[in-house]
Amino acid sequence: MSLLDLIMVTGTVEEVEQVAPRVRRIAISGVPGLPWRPGQHVRVLVTDLMALRTWLSGFKDVLRTYSVWDYDPRGRLDLCVLDHPQAGPGALWARTASIGQQVAFTRPEGRLLPRDEAPYHLFAGDETAAPAFGAMLRALPPAARVFGAVATAGLPLPRAGELAAVETTPEAGGLAGRVRELELPERPGVAYVAGEARDCQAVRHHLMRERGWPRDAIKVKAFWAPGKRGLD
Ligand SMILES: Cc1cc2nc3c(=O)[nH]c(=O)nc-3n(C[C@H](O)[C@H](O)[C@H](O)COP(=O)(O)OP(=O)(O)OC[C@H]3O[C@@H](n4cnc5c(N)ncnc54)[C@H](O)[C@@H]3O)c2cc1C
Repeated sequence: MSLLDLIMVTGTVEEVEQVAPRVRRIAISGVPGLPWRPGQHVRVLVTDLMALRTWLSGFKDVLRTYSVWDYDPRGRLDLCVLDHPQAGPGALWARTASIGQQVAFTRPEGRLLPRDEAPYHLFAGDETAAPAFGAMLRALPPAARVFGAVATAGLPLPRAGELAAVETTPEAGGLAGRVRELELPERPGVAYVAGEARDCQAVRHHLMRERGWPRDAIKVKAFWAPGKRGLD
């Protein structure tokens, strides 16, 4: 067993599907028995560890973070990766992923998890948040009340009819504007907010200042920020 095997899990790309114009679903097989909860992510090794440029860059661009879209504990894990115009090593890895390719990634982790006891669930995010939200929505009991404003980039989300569509990655403040338009119950629920960092802040600000939600009812996770590489 190598050092890499101690830190990471290795599987094989079994399927690649262009599930929406800008989103590729990459199914990785041969990874049974991982402890995963819907909403959690893995960190994928997206560059060749042995390449000279990896060593010269000080290992900066080695890992990129992706939510688990779905996981079958018999050994198959699905990721959904958004292509974006400034494609760094993560987007480039997804563009070129092919069947039979080996993929190493860290075990699932993260605290963006649905809270069972919530009176209702509010999802707000951009296209990078849609895969995590999809897994979370699938895990909710059918009786759970759901609201949301989510940019999906065409990724088919469960309970999509209960979510307001956000057409594109919104400009700063755009996502908060869509959340402001939602008719929510008087009493706070639990909010899950993810995607571009300033949008996440703007949604939190709106919920706290304009709707009077307590901070601990809002789970915020910035997934990326303009000009920053490999946020996690
Ligand atoms: C917990 C967590 C879960 C995530 N889950 C997913 C997921 O399921 N699917 C998914 O597609 N992404 C997901 N992301 C976001 C993804 O990790 C980032 O978008 C990542 O920066 C992409 O890596 P890259 O190498 O392509 O670009 P980087 O090298 O990181 O960045 C290069 C340039 O592109 C810009 N950039 C990065 N991401 C975007 C974007 N989305 N839109 C426009 N510009 C961008 C950066 O600001 C930078 O200027 C997640 C992030 C986190 C922290």
